[in-house]
Amino acid sequence: MLNHNTALAPLSLDRPAPIAPAAVRDLQQRLRGRLLRPGDDEYDDARKIWNGMIDRHPALIARCAAPEDVVAAVNFARDYELPLAVRGGGHNVAGLAVCDGGLVADLSGMKGIQVDPAGQTGRAEPGLVWGEFDRATQTWGLALPGGIQSTTGIAGFTLGGGFGYLSRQHGLSSDNLLSARVVTADGRQVTASPIENPDLFWGLRGGGGNFGVVTSFEFRLHPLGPVLGGMLLYPLARAPEILRYYRDFVAQIPDELFTILNFMTAPAAPHLPERIHGAAMLAILVCWSGPLDAGEHVLRPLRDFGPPEVDLVGPRPYTVIQTMLDAANPPGKQNYWKAAYLSGLSDTAIETMVDHVARKPSALSKVLVSYLRGAISRLPSGESAYIHRQSPFLLNINAMWLDPKDTDEQIGWARDFWSAMQPFSTGGVYVNFLSNEGEDRVRAAYDADTYDRLVALKNKYDPANLFRLNQNIKPSV
Ligand SMILES: Cc1cc2nc3c(=O)[nH]c(=O)nc-3n(C[C@H](O)[C@H](O)[C@H](O)COP(=O)(O)OP(=O)(O)OC[C@H]3O[C@@H](n4cnc5c(N)ncnc54)[C@H](O)[C@@H]3O)c2cc1C
Repeated sequence: MLNHNTALAPLSLDRPAPIAPAAVRDLQQRLRGRLLRPGDDEYDDARKIWNGMIDRHPALIARCAAPEDVVAAVNFARDYELPLAVRGGGHNVAGLAVCDGGLVADLSGMKGIQVDPAGQTGRAEPGLVWGEFDRATQTWGLALPGGIQSTTGIAGFTLGGGFGYLSRQHGLSSDNLLSARVVTADGRQVTASPIENPDLFWGLRGGGGNFGVVTSFEFRLHPLGPVLGGMLLYPLARAPEILRYYRDFVAQIPDELFTILNFMTAPAAPHLPERIHGAAMLAILVCWSGPLDAGEHVLRPLRDFGPPEVDLVGPRPYTVIQTMLDAANPPGKQNYWKAAYLSGLSDTAIETMVDHVARKPSALSKVLVSYLRGAISRLPSGESAYIHRQSPFLLNINAMWLDPKDTDEQIGWARDFWSAMQPFSTGGVYVNFLSNEGEDRVRAAYDADTYDRLVALKNKYDPANLFRLNQNIKPSV
């Protein structure tokens, strides 16, 4: 049994806490997976996440292998008042998947997935990343709207909303959630669905990891064959003219077409002509998920306009399109993001973006603008805790660099850029793109009614705020 009276030194997020050896042995015995401590061979790898800026030293890392392990980790953190971080894919830019001096419930090894091809549903564990999920579902000719990078975790992604190339056709990942199994702060395992704990089900779809640890997601899946996808590239100098055309083009596209603007420096990659290596470019990423011949027709005006310097659009498996950005976003680099929903792409917004992109101090940095709406916008507001259903564009300024001594300059560029874009912003932000920006910015991810409803849910499911290493909704009790 746990010794609930074990004396612990006061805990801080910055300082490892001494934990009684007997309690640690007891936790290890309860776990099917390994319990890692500083000095263990796998410890340093296990505390690394996608953002190389984050260098934290948890006291314990519980490599969960089953829902029972998650229950044991949650109970341990609660009983010993340890900070608890929950790790899915570890992609969150704010580094919320790992803590200093506390316990990490590391779910990254929980990778089970079962597809029901007849019922077109899938049940997935939270350690899966999108590449793994997509490979499994595409085996059956099915798919779910998921991330535009194959290495992002399905768990944190879905809990914040989750959009990708199929979202204009089929909504957010969380819009396709049918039910979830959740370990709550009191260590119970509950189901959240439209009929069981519907309040929790509402909050899980946009409210992040605030209400419990999800140990399995049940999703509705959709038939999907090859897509027509890839990218069109233009020199940055031509971006204003291209973007004025693009904003009118996307205003009338069918739901099957998803597009993302990607301001980037062209890498020295073999699929790109040498003449553009190292050049500042605007890429338009496209993915058409309807019949291929119809896609050729819909995309033709965009592909003819300009024309692009390079046209890399063609029929491809969805799983290939999902890896298109992987090489540009490897793990371990220094990363800082600033994001905002934009209400439109006015001429001034375009000029402001191009001006700031031209001054980016790192060739690794990029700026993405996703055009959303479609099926996302057709669900009623209040359907879930994700509230930005009518926002057309989502801007994400991704500063990425190598040398930590450049941090101030890189973050300064992202912040200046973001400030200059404020006149064109809806004022809202996507919770999954937040850095560590404080409570006001978490509030900006919701409207006042939704935020109040999330606080009420937090009061009910986690009044002591055990799950606080996230974009935190603070309880009011
Ligand atoms: C390169 C890159 C590309 C991206 N592309 C997209 C995109 O196309 N669309 C999009 O919507 N987002 C995208 N994102 C953002 C992404 O949604 C977030 O980074 C998300 O947090 C990733 O989930 P994760 O499981 O990998 O994160 P983690 O860092 O593991 O976790 C993130 C948060 O979720 C919590 N959490 C994780 N698992 C669970 C669980 N099982 N139960 C409860 N809480 C949990 C964590 O505690 C933490 O607070 C991208 C991110 C990166 C770095």
